[in-house]
Amino acid sequence: MKKYRCLVCDYIYDPEKGDPDSGIKPETPFEELPDDWLCPLCGVGKDQFAPVEEEKETPKKDAPLMFCYQCSQTAKGTGCTVRGVCGKEPTVARLQDNLLFAIKGISAYLYHARELGYTDPEVDAFLEKGFYSTLTNVNFDANQFVELALEAGRMNIKTMQLLKKAHIDTYGEPIPTEVPVGAMKGPAIIVTGHSLKTLEELLKQTEGKGINIYTHSELLPAHGYPGLKKYKHLVGQLGGPWFDQKKTFSKYKAAILGTSNCVLLPKDDYKERMFTSGVAQLPGVTHIKEYDFTPVIEKALELGDLEEEPRETILTTGFGASTVLSLADKIKELIEAGKIRQFILVGGCDSPLLQAKYYTEFVEKLPKDTVVLTLACGKYRFNSMDLGNIEGVPRLIDLGQCNDAIVAIDIAVALTELFGVELNELPLTIVCSWMEQKAAAILWSLLALNLKGIYLGPILPGWANDDIIKVLVENYDLTPIGNPEDDIAKILG
Ligand code: SF4
Ligand code: SF4
Repeated sequence: MKKYRCLVCDYIYDPEKGDPDSGIKPETPFEELPDDWLCPLCGVGKDQFAPVEEEKETPKKDAPLMFCYQCSQTAKGTGCTVRGVCGKEPTVARLQDNLLFAIKGISAYLYHARELGYTDPEVDAFLEKGFYSTLTNVNFDANQFVELALEAGRMNIKTMQLLKKAHIDTYGEPIPTEVPVGAMKGPAIIVTGHSLKTLEELLKQTEGKGINIYTHSELLPAHGYPGLKKYKHLVGQLGGPWFDQKKTFSKYKAAILGTSNCVLLPKDDYKERMFTSGVAQLPGVTHIKEYDFTPVIEKALELGDLEEEPRETILTTGFGASTVLSLADKIKELIEAGKIRQFILVGGCDSPLLQAKYYTEFVEKLPKDTVVLTLACGKYRFNSMDLGNIEGVPRLIDLGQCNDAIVAIDIAVALTELFGVELNELPLTIVCSWMEQKAAAILWSLLALNLKGIYLGPILPGWANDDIIKVLVENYDLTPIGNPEDDIAKILG
């Protein structure tokens, strides 16, 4: 019997073992798995698997030094891959890509701020300058592109501050909130993505209609905002990070609303009960315009009740800067008494790669005199763990969505004032997971603050060549994640 490998996350289905968690007995050949069986790790379907035996060892070709096909001079009419016909060097081409990725990340935060009526002309002007700099025959200077990336980091800090202000002005500052995971009896809508504005509009339109609203993925922190948690029919969370959506959305026969990234191409079994809004769009899925959720509500009512299930897992979210800083004196006392040794920000994007298991093991293995700050969907690797507290200071503090990196920065800056030290002298280490381009923007924000010694994984950015990595390692002591034990030993000295 052949083993099959998931092409998305590398999980290997071994027919001898089966998949007991999904009810698949040992000795079940891959070909006999039910059509709706999903990868237990990342939730993709059988069509995303290939037989292990048939994988041929292809000699690894060197990656192209660069790739640019944005003008008519492009080599052979297909792409400059070694050096630009215009003279552009590979490192410049890659730094241009890096800048564009950071700009994409900033744009996402700016978009959600604008949804709530908040804009910043200085950031808009930077976006123009950044895009323009990557046009053909404008800027060939690698150092300038490093400066532009740092400027992008600073502009991203401004944008995250803008979005935080928009969220707090509109919904109040988050307060720690326990969120049950699991279904209640009744019709349901599952909302995924990042848009609090979209969630709020849906909550208003579903009030009194007997429909339960559940968050998924990066909308979990919505439960902490007073202006959203006041809606009694915002009842909990279903599923975890973005990449489990095929599994979660197949399991719960509810209407689904995707409000931003990360939406995945839907499976056929829930495509007709899925909807998108804002920038998110999927082929064959109804797109909602102008926040009119009538079709979503009608679909939820038509689908009928979800079955009640035990809601044993409770996730705690909603730690705003005020809540954490109200503990500042206590934190200072505990650090000085040696009862808190280190704060570790373990945050960023989750990904279905096998290497992402690192973050679960890392947090599990941390000694009990450490405090974990977290944000974004990387938290799902460990946010159901009970880490307890140190004399009233929780050991696991969920600050919110990826844009709430600004809350972590605000807390760190406030602690520097409390202790009278520089940022890099704080007992704080950042262990950062990344998947998409918002994380690229945040990484440059941290570098713009001159934060040293960041651990980054599960893999290093593919667009960074040796020259770029060298700059990051030499100037910022950026460290690729290794194994949890060694990294913890290094961090704690
Ligand atoms: S801009 Fe330069 S590197 Fe890009 S396609 Fe044109 S010639 Fe090639
Ligand atoms: S944190 Fe990143 S990977 Fe996670 S849901 Fe948000 S955008 Fe997607």
